Amino acid sequence: MSALALETQELSLRFGAIDALAGINLQLESGARHALIGPNGAGKTTLINVLTGVYAPTAGCIRMSGHDITAHRVDQRARQGLIRTFQINQLFPSLTPLLSVVMTIQEREGQGTIWWRPYQRSTAVFDEAHALLKRLRLDSVAEARVSELPYGQQRLLEIALALAGRPRILLLDEPAAGVPKDECRELLETLAELPQDISVLLIEHDMNLVFRFARRISVLVAGRVLTEGSPADIARDPRVREVYLGRANMRGPMQGHTQGPAEYLRG
Ligand code: ATP
Repeated sequence: MSALALETQELSLRFGAIDALAGINLQLESGARHALIGPNGAGKTTLINVLTGVYAPTAGCIRMSGHDITAHRVDQRARQGLIRTFQINQLFPSLTPLLSVVMTIQEREGQGTIWWRPYQRSTAVFDEAHALLKRLRLDSVAEARVSELPYGQQRLLEIALALAGRPRILLLDEPAAGVPKDECRELLETLAELPQDISVLLIEHDMNLVFRFARRISVLVAGRVLTEGSPADIARDPRVREVYLGRANMRGPMQGHTQGPAEYLRG
């Protein structure tokens, strides 16, 4: 059995004339805190979409704990514990956080059809939901409307929903995108407290978050891994500085909220 939670070999995807991914070899250790960074259009979201089965790769393969999952469907991968969050939040605005988590747990347990009968509640499901919300520091807003939560708490709820799926591998797609700076600290603290047995791949433009969270960083540029290393290696790599500092478009979508790569690398 491989010690790697997730591994890609020569993973490639073409969109017409664009090599969105070109021979990606990525290794996610068991219990990893691995970040994937790169300028806009580098292929980060495409990689998540291929890893989760939304897109089939043009070439290459994906292994989860040593097993080839390249041909598996999205739902099969999710059941095997490969679970993602989304860049733009996908929540139901009129539900409460509690019911959102309960529905996700019921879905995981194959009880998806009874979600609309919340009062025939299984105590175990509600207990688990409350515990998860507590872990994500959302217990005080468990019964509020999702639409009324500050954006940072909505992103935390997304992570709670991902955790409700019992991930072995968690893919976080820009959890800080759109989160105001004063709500980012809570997000960072919460990510730092994720269970150690979950392997995490974080895609993020906010370098404060990346460099505090990750123990390993891969830099993706134009569909290829430019380099990979420890945060210290990446911070001093002149090629990485060139990629960000040499570009006009370097802050990503959260301008005005968080610290982009160029600002971070300039120090
Ligand atoms: P960002 O940081 O802005 O989210 P990214 O690193 O996630 O960027 P992707 O969104 O994965 O980059 O895009 C990689 C490349 O693939 C880009 O050139 C993009 O235009 C192209 N691309 C992405 N999705 C599609 C698609 N469905 N059809 C055609 N081209 C696509």
